[in-house]
Amino acid sequence: MDFSLTEEQEMIKQAARKFALNELLPHSAQWDKTKEFPQHLVDKMGELGFVHTTIPKEYGGQGTDRLTNGIIVEELARGDFSLSIFAFGVMTDAFMIYGTEEQRKRWLPPMATGEGHMGIALTESESGSDAAGLTMKAVRDGDEYVLNGEKSSVSNINADGWLVLARTDPDASPARGISCFIVPGKTPGVTTSLYNDLGGRAVPRGPVAFEDVRIPAGNLLGEENRGFHLIMHAFDYNRALIGLMCIGAAQQTLDETIEFAKNRKSFGQVITTNQGVSFPIAEAATRLELARLICCKVLWLRDNELPHTTEAAMAKWFAPRTCVDILHECLLIHGHYGYTDEFHVEQRLRNVIGWQIGDGTANIQKLVIARDIIGREFVR
Ligand SMILES: Cc1cc2nc3c(=O)[nH]c(=O)nc-3n(C[C@H](O)[C@H](O)[C@H](O)COP(=O)(O)OP(=O)(O)OC[C@H]3O[C@@H](n4cnc5c(N)ncnc54)[C@H](O)[C@@H]3O)c2cc1C
Repeated sequence: MDFSLTEEQEMIKQAARKFALNELLPHSAQWDKTKEFPQHLVDKMGELGFVHTTIPKEYGGQGTDRLTNGIIVEELARGDFSLSIFAFGVMTDAFMIYGTEEQRKRWLPPMATGEGHMGIALTESESGSDAAGLTMKAVRDGDEYVLNGEKSSVSNINADGWLVLARTDPDASPARGISCFIVPGKTPGVTTSLYNDLGGRAVPRGPVAFEDVRIPAGNLLGEENRGFHLIMHAFDYNRALIGLMCIGAAQQTLDETIEFAKNRKSFGQVITTNQGVSFPIAEAATRLELARLICCKVLWLRDNELPHTTEAAMAKWFAPRTCVDILHECLLIHGHYGYTDEFHVEQRLRNVIGWQIGDGTANIQKLVIARDIIGREFVR
């Protein structure tokens, strides 16, 4: 086993960290308060090659492997949690594995510069964890599909387009009759609204309604009725990136907490001299390293085209949970200051909690793992 980064990966990692700490971190709290979306910095991320980094060079991207993509996500999340999402390579996989040449040429180049944004619209009010139970319909009408229904939770609500999952065969078993469509955000019949989320506020989330939305049949991504498989395969990649995004936020907080604790005195001595302070820091460093290892393993497995669904589920429940615990501990080490917005801890805690839910809760990940290691017939 070789755990070392290549010289190129190390360089990219340092460059991403420098950008995150110098250009994102100083404004992150302000974006959280104002819900302002800093497109100019996403453009700059594009210029520096930090957005959707796995997009192949022929479509204007960097063509990195997925492990490098994960390294960039973690580093950017040190500066701003929400903006690190724009580095995620998951859309690239969807288009490169399932898309047509025409679809790739239309959607990938704007994403590679940071101008074009895409989201995923799967969850409905009655089908979150039970995602295959979705009821939104898509009916073929000549050269078009007509979409009707409502999605209840779409991140990046202001995106230029979404991958929308809709039922195309009402008679097939739940997971088999679903297709995936590329729907431009400005299509007539689409209306969006906003949630007032606890965190992740620079990239707002909300419901999207589709009323007689007509899209060309050529916007079908992958095969008809195979959309659920497509999106679950995409999630296996997303889950490792979500883990690394949470790790970036927690690692930066841990580093800041160490500096704080080395300078904070109580009873006439710096608080790190107490094992009650230094041991939680040591434990946090250990847990972060373990969480990072499982996330990176998922990306390595995917890069090597090896099965990784179970490992992705492990990464998705373990990393956000671990990071929430660490952020909570770091907040307490800051004493009453940690409870204010003078430090970034409270903001990062709010941000990371969201991804204990988004893309599947811990319970659902444990279901995936249990079904694999115990056997589907023994687990409900
Ligand atoms: C920050 C954030 C971003 C999101 N972004 C997107 C997005 O971009 N696109 C999108 O489509 N969706 C998105 N979601 C929605 C998200 O994927 C769903 O919220 C999630 O899958 C859970 O569904 P639910 O909220 O309906 O909860 P429910 O399915 O109603 O579950 C409620 C609770 O019951 C538990 N539960 C349910 N079933 C079981 C079971 N069988 N065994 C044990 N426990 C169970 C769950 O763990 C949970 O704690 C996002 C959510 C958040 C918070």
